[in-house]
Amino acid sequence: MSERSGNVRRAVVIGGGVSGLATALRLLDGATQRGLDLRVDVLEAAPDFGGNLRTLAHDGWRLEWGPNGFLDNEPATLRLVERLGLSGELVRSSDAARRRFLVVGGRLREIPASPPAFLRTDLFTPRAKLRVLGELLVPRRRDLGRAAEDPATDESVWEFGRRRLGRDFAELMLDPMVKGIFGGDARRLSLAAAFPRMVELERDHGSLFRALAAISRKRRKAADAGPSGTLHSFREGMAALPAALARSLGADPRATLVTSRGVASLRRDGDGWRVGADDGGSIACDAVVHAAPAHAAAAHLRGLDPALAGQLDGIPYVPMAVIALGYARDDVAHDLDGFGMLIPTCEHSRLLGALWTSSIFPGRAPQGRVLLHCMAGGPLDPRVLDDGDGALRDRAVAELRGLLGLRGEPVMVQVFRHARAIAQYEPGHLALLRRIDARLADLPGLHLSGSSYRGVSVNACLKESESMAAAVLDRLAASGPRTEGGAA
Ligand SMILES: Cc1cc2nc3c(=O)[nH]c(=O)nc-3n(C[C@H](O)[C@H](O)[C@H](O)COP(=O)(O)OP(=O)(O)OC[C@H]3O[C@@H](n4cnc5c(N)ncnc54)[C@H](O)[C@@H]3O)c2cc1C
Repeated sequence: MSERSGNVRRAVVIGGGVSGLATALRLLDGATQRGLDLRVDVLEAAPDFGGNLRTLAHDGWRLEWGPNGFLDNEPATLRLVERLGLSGELVRSSDAARRRFLVVGGRLREIPASPPAFLRTDLFTPRAKLRVLGELLVPRRRDLGRAAEDPATDESVWEFGRRRLGRDFAELMLDPMVKGIFGGDARRLSLAAAFPRMVELERDHGSLFRALAAISRKRRKAADAGPSGTLHSFREGMAALPAALARSLGADPRATLVTSRGVASLRRDGDGWRVGADDGGSIACDAVVHAAPAHAAAAHLRGLDPALAGQLDGIPYVPMAVIALGYARDDVAHDLDGFGMLIPTCEHSRLLGALWTSSIFPGRAPQGRVLLHCMAGGPLDPRVLDDGDGALRDRAVAELRGLLGLRGEPVMVQVFRHARAIAQYEPGHLALLRRIDARLADLPGLHLSGSSYRGVSVNACLKESESMAAAVLDRLAASGPRTEGGAA
């Protein structure tokens, strides 16, 4: 096919993580529905597709490099799983995984999972419990929902927790929750950007407790309340998702998928775009979906729009190390009957937490063995990757030894190093996105997608892939045939 011919439109997707692959698939599905003649190229810098979704299987172990699972409450994810024929491959987390633990005072403590358990627990003093119950009386903030227009109103997760539920709850519950999801620091994360639902609940109900009561009344009334958010993965691990996406796209003659070909530059080309690859070649196209992290987009846009590049550089990422430890079952005294443990900042631990992976999903460890995924790093330990694999392993083993009753040495160790693991939506993130969108308005045909912007979870990325594909197709359908640019 010539680069640009007749009514054929061409889109280039930069980055073959789940965001890029799912957007490419949804672009082609949508083009079929709309009768649009579209070609899609996906350029991935790494040797494999999948980005953070990589599963390593060896000797009966199944190790996740990045995410371990996703909740089954995002319709876009369920639609994609169905579309790819992967429904039969889904595995649900075990019931035991509903039990979650904190490390407090150097001991493992179960997180109360119900109101009676909360009243019984001695994790909180009676005074702290009263303060939590007093949430019902805390007045609603008047400036909720204005974080994009007025960053001064953008509360951190920590500030929100302290205001509504008290300092102890923020310290023991919200701080470790943020570590578990973002590897982040609750004091430096925007509530509105990271947990927009919390803002909606306060705005719509005036109190989180009233909101929870209203939601559970609604669920009880609804004949089919739908899935409520149980962790799932795939039998073969999370890499099954990008593998199926790449298979499906690879079978479509309208798609061209290339690995080990990174994008090095982006420039305007007539009224379209020219995407320059790191091998010196280039592709002319009508639309670009930049689905690599914001720092990569910044590098590509520095020559074209330095202000936009500077804004994209303003979305920080934190480094993380994932230390997978395999033990003989008999060498772990704890029953590991749960999801895992998170460690609040006030414990001054050098771990963020640990998942008891083999208790969550079947088939993650060989018979008679258990698998733990320990996380270290984040904004409070930005030099975590200065340590070698041996030091990271020793650190994880030392922290867990007393907590879980580890005996002897691990029988399997694997360390995964993430130099830029997860985007941190700092206070001001939504206002930053608004400024980025304003500059993109002057760069028609360029779209920014992926976990740097509107949600870091796999679910958020897949939800965005649908809306992103629709926006790109709307624009392609509305714009006339493009003027020609120069040859590659
Ligand atoms: C340790 C860890 C644990 C996590 N746990 C969970 C979890 O349990 N549940 C959950 O929902 N989420 C989790 N996440 C978050 C989730 O994995 C990511 O947010 C999601 O995978 C992001 O997908 P993406 O496609 O947007 O980005 P990425 O996965 O980062 O993909 C971007 C792709 O772009 C490519 N690229 C970069 N530069 C270029 C270039 N110049 N040219 C071409 N290609 C380029 C990269 O190689 C990469 O393949 C976790 C993340 C980490 C790091």
